Amino acid sequence: MEKREQLYEGKAKKVFATDIPELIIVSYKDDATAFDGKKRGTITGKGIINNRMTNYLMRKLEELGIPTHYVKELNERETVVKKVHIIPLEVIVRNISAGHFASRYGVEEGIIFEEPVVEYSYKNDELHDPLLNEDHAIALKLTTKEELGIIRDFALRINNALKAILLEAGVTLVDFKLEFGKTPDGTIVLADEISPDTCRFWDSKSGEKLDKDRFRRDLGNVEGAYAEMSRRLLGS
Ligand code: C5P
Repeated sequence: MEKREQLYEGKAKKVFATDIPELIIVSYKDDATAFDGKKRGTITGKGIINNRMTNYLMRKLEELGIPTHYVKELNERETVVKKVHIIPLEVIVRNISAGHFASRYGVEEGIIFEEPVVEYSYKNDELHDPLLNEDHAIALKLTTKEELGIIRDFALRINNALKAILLEAGVTLVDFKLEFGKTPDGTIVLADEISPDTCRFWDSKSGEKLDKDRFRRDLGNVEGAYAEMSRRLLGS
């Protein structure tokens, strides 16, 4: 397979065409942004960790019957994935109050929910990714009712699978964001990434934050937290 022209550059990844129309290559960068792009920085080595961790977790999810866009890891920063139409929804699953849940509803962080909370935002930079509910998403024709049912079911199954994998690594899964895509034949697959950029990971014993909140909140040891997550999940 041949790498061709760059199709797109996002905040954390670049996307390249290949000589096979159904496949693209994603390349993970060390660039980090937060607060709607207002805070910018570099987390050295992040691209390598996020690429490897995403692929590891997507392979595990595939084994459990959840379809993903993952095809093949090419090298430490680059992966071949299926070209899909990204459904413009950020699907957030929360197990414990944190981040915008805590600030929006005026509660402290760390409240353990009896049931996971599934939340959607409209992926739209100009509108700053507004929160929406299922009726809004359908009215806006971002997806269909049937697809939303599949997406919610996948999101909850992914939550259970990730919680179990992380528990073994001594990590509590607080919340995370998923994106889904549609293949040309209409299959919904998990896309984007699963990494410390897109999840909140707390050490199960100490509660120490092992994710991008260290960058967002200037907590220090940002690279150390990513490296620790990499050691715990990937062994190096
Ligand atoms: O900021 P908020 O509390 O809504 O984030 C919930 C979860 O979704 C966090 O794990 C965060 O890392 C992730 N997220 C993301 N990309 C966004 C918004 C949230 O990965 N644009």
